[in-house]
Amino acid sequence: MTTVAPPAYDEVTATFEPVIGLETHVELGTRTKMFCGCPTAFGAAPNTQVCPVCLGLPGSLPVANKAAIEATIRIGLALNCSIAEWCRFARKNYFYPDMPKNYQISQYDEPLCTDGWLDVEVDGEMVRIGIERVHLEEDTGKTLHVGGATGRIHGASESLVDYNRAGIPLVEIVTKPVPGIGAKAPIVARAYVSELRDVIRSLGVSDVRMEQGSLRCDVNTSLNRPGEEWGTRTETKNVNSLRSVERAVRSEMIRQAAVLSTGGKITQETRHFHEDTGETTSGRSKEEATDYRYFPEPDLVPLAPDTAWVRELQAALPELPRVHRQRLQSEWGLSDLDMQSVVNAGAVELIEATIAAGTTAEAARKWWLGELSRKANETGVELAAIGATPQQVAQLQKLVDDGKLTDKLARQVLEGVVAGEGDPEQIMQARGIEVVSDSGALTLAVDEAIAANPEVADKIRGGNVAAAGVLIGAVMKATRGQADAKTVRELVLSRLS
Ligand SMILES: [Zn+2]
Repeated sequence: MTTVAPPAYDEVTATFEPVIGLETHVELGTRTKMFCGCPTAFGAAPNTQVCPVCLGLPGSLPVANKAAIEATIRIGLALNCSIAEWCRFARKNYFYPDMPKNYQISQYDEPLCTDGWLDVEVDGEMVRIGIERVHLEEDTGKTLHVGGATGRIHGASESLVDYNRAGIPLVEIVTKPVPGIGAKAPIVARAYVSELRDVIRSLGVSDVRMEQGSLRCDVNTSLNRPGEEWGTRTETKNVNSLRSVERAVRSEMIRQAAVLSTGGKITQETRHFHEDTGETTSGRSKEEATDYRYFPEPDLVPLAPDTAWVRELQAALPELPRVHRQRLQSEWGLSDLDMQSVVNAGAVELIEATIAAGTTAEAARKWWLGELSRKANETGVELAAIGATPQQVAQLQKLVDDGKLTDKLARQVLEGVVAGEGDPEQIMQARGIEVVSDSGALTLAVDEAIAANPEVADKIRGGNVAAAGVLIGAVMKATRGQADAKTVRELVLSRLS
């Protein structure tokens, strides 16, 4: 079999138009589960947060969690949805070992929130993403396959099930199909998930941590030639970071283009995204899709949120991220373009917190968008997970402002912070980093440099100030970069005047 190289991304977008759609699951941060009183804390010992209801024991009856319903309505309102005046939960029937009841209580044709939108800014342009529905359901447990190399069931010697997560309230947010975004499809997908995460975080209803699975994303992608009907879509699962959302759409577009260009057909299927290779592989074909035999959940009364209550929730919504960002932009005095790069870097809240810890907007932005963004890109982690906190960045800047660190030394200290060596002052001590500010030691170094370079010294005495660079360089070298270059320059010129 010969392997044909996949097409380049710009070839793909020159020939095809993508349509994307996103399904996002958000675990709510309620104290108790959706239909019972079990606690929801993350990280407890397996199967210690369970009861007859969430274990699906015969005769147990669910009771809906009001806090979860309220959180879902607030998400719906923040996403400009209509809130149903009357709706029902439904049973979704399927067998899976991590689902003890053999059905999941979900919502089917009567979701709580419908027909909204979320505006997302991409390259200075606003893209409106339609929201099809926001509904409430319960999470499943977790299966752990042990003994295999990959953590998958294939090759495993045993499988363990933890039901602590079973029954935690889960909100599913489904977009309408998003056509007409061309080559920007991957970044639109990423910007949407990022904005949605910010919205939900601002509501305080979930910690929306992708790495802990409290926000999980499936991405639908299809391609069509211009003027043709939308193509067959695939659904990519396991997309667990913002970066992966972007990569998953891009790699799926390239894969589908390769198939279509050689006369092949796209199979409607779920695919798995692999963080390591950045590619998707085939999962379950939709042709074998289960018939879930949905029917209204007979053990729960219908859900009929009082309109006055919904109006109250609407009135009490917090300032949403986009409005919040506009306010920050004017407070920080940034252009649209500068603000956009702050948003793209995922640095809004980090800069905000750094300023709150006592730094100017300019300095906070310099560190997060400069040195720290560069490190985040190099190592492929989100900026927020880089290992430096806003407090540490503020401490670092204070040391620079107080003349205890030069910019160059501050970057060395920051390296230590990112490596987890502690706070800036601890690192300065441990690594022996400090500015040589003792003027006696500096004057000595300057005099040594002058003595070692008599011809250069003569030039400077003769008025050639530009020649001072050589002596400054020599002093910086002698002090291993721990002197402030401006001070050294002043000292050199005053000794030779
Ligand atoms: Zn329970």
